[in-house]
Amino acid sequence: MTLQLYNSYSRQIEAFQPLDEGKVRMYHCGPTVYKRPHIGNYRSFLFADLLRRLFDSMGYDVVQVMNITDVGHLVDDADDGEDKMLKQARQEKLTPWQIVDKVCAEFFADLHALAVRPAHHYPRATDHIPEMVKMVQKLIASKHAYRVGDNVYFDVHSFPKYGQLSGNRIDELDAGARLEVNEEKKHPADFALWKSDPSHLMKWETVFGEHGFPGWHIECSAMSMKYLGQSFDIHTGGEDNVFPHHECEIAQSEGATGKRFVKHWLHTKFLQVDGGKMSKSLGNVWSLDDLEERGFSPLDYRFLIMRGHYRTQLNFTWDALRGAAEARKNLLDWRGRLQAAARTSDSACRADAAPDVVEAKQKFAPAITEAVEKFDAAIADDLNTSEAVAAVFGLRNAFMQDAFVGANAQNALDFLDRVDDLFALFPTNGDDAEGLSDADVEALLAERVNAREQKDWPRADEIRDQLQIAGIVIEDKSGSVHWHRS
Ligand SMILES: [Zn+2]
Repeated sequence: MTLQLYNSYSRQIEAFQPLDEGKVRMYHCGPTVYKRPHIGNYRSFLFADLLRRLFDSMGYDVVQVMNITDVGHLVDDADDGEDKMLKQARQEKLTPWQIVDKVCAEFFADLHALAVRPAHHYPRATDHIPEMVKMVQKLIASKHAYRVGDNVYFDVHSFPKYGQLSGNRIDELDAGARLEVNEEKKHPADFALWKSDPSHLMKWETVFGEHGFPGWHIECSAMSMKYLGQSFDIHTGGEDNVFPHHECEIAQSEGATGKRFVKHWLHTKFLQVDGGKMSKSLGNVWSLDDLEERGFSPLDYRFLIMRGHYRTQLNFTWDALRGAAEARKNLLDWRGRLQAAARTSDSACRADAAPDVVEAKQKFAPAITEAVEKFDAAIADDLNTSEAVAAVFGLRNAFMQDAFVGANAQNALDFLDRVDDLFALFPTNGDDAEGLSDADVEALLAERVNAREQKDWPRADEIRDQLQIAGIVIEDKSGSVHWHRS
């Protein structure tokens, strides 16, 4: 079955065809680590994980990258205003770097709790300044960007396709941006690639001047291309990333290389809370801890997200979460019964040829085949997870009406394994196959020491992230490193 995906760029459903046979390279806009992501942020991260699990299960060689924005993301996604990191640091009376470390640890712990399969790279913006500078220089050389003093802007009129992803028109954007006039820019809709600000706490000395920092958009262009090449298969984000962030990424990347940047653009809809936008003033900005305090598992939340198609409105309420928890419990319970039934039929106390066994097999075999087909067809149809879950429950309900299920228990269990492989509904106990053994942890820690000695900070950070997401807590104490499992 060919996987069909809705491409936000063409606004059409398209058959997925990787650029290189057998390989999938994908990039997801990750968190801006100024504060712990709330449950709404996790909708797009869980969607990224679903894609990853799907491509893994299809046998593709996957390279998955999710960035960490730790500088340059200004309040309101704008060119001017305060950096989100710095604002938070000021409020908490910490340094921005302390905030980064704290929030990254929380983020990776959340991913672990949500059973997210670790991406292959979690690059941080502050570790990739040279790559960004190089790209900005390239854009200046090709006349897509211009310098004004120590600032650098992208000239949107140099890239006629600007606006194609978001459906915006350059002239209208110019008109709109005139409300906040920035005299430096050639056109009001131009956006910043590099900003100069001596008072900025996170700043770098580069060819553009002494005190500069990157714009948010250039970070994702530079980091995605570093790990995935100039053209890659899939780029995802939340619907709020479409404009300006992704529109700007396309302009910068294609402006710099002259090649198509991304083949498939996928965007998840916002999670609504209580029928509206979550907000501090309404007191409904929930974190995973808030859910756990009320007795829910992060996997209940995961299932709530999975039950909704990623492009449809999904409304979070405590009742909806209770419903998802109940449904997940029902599946767990059914799985337990099937496991017990499979053990009974395995023990050969019933001959396979016994009339009631044959009858039961005949009865359920077509139902299982049908459920598998429906499930696979729904997933292939632009990841229609809500239909896929309906197929699972259809089969469960048929089984639950019948007292004797042993004959087909193993087939149904195989199907549930497939469902779990994509949705991660069931907790893995103890030694998780995807987890790290003690020896793996020791080897990674040794590699991290080595990377730090070589001043290879990106690799050292990457290893720490990898360990955190595997639930390993590292403590650097007076020169020696201790670790334990969370
Ligand atoms: Zn991004």
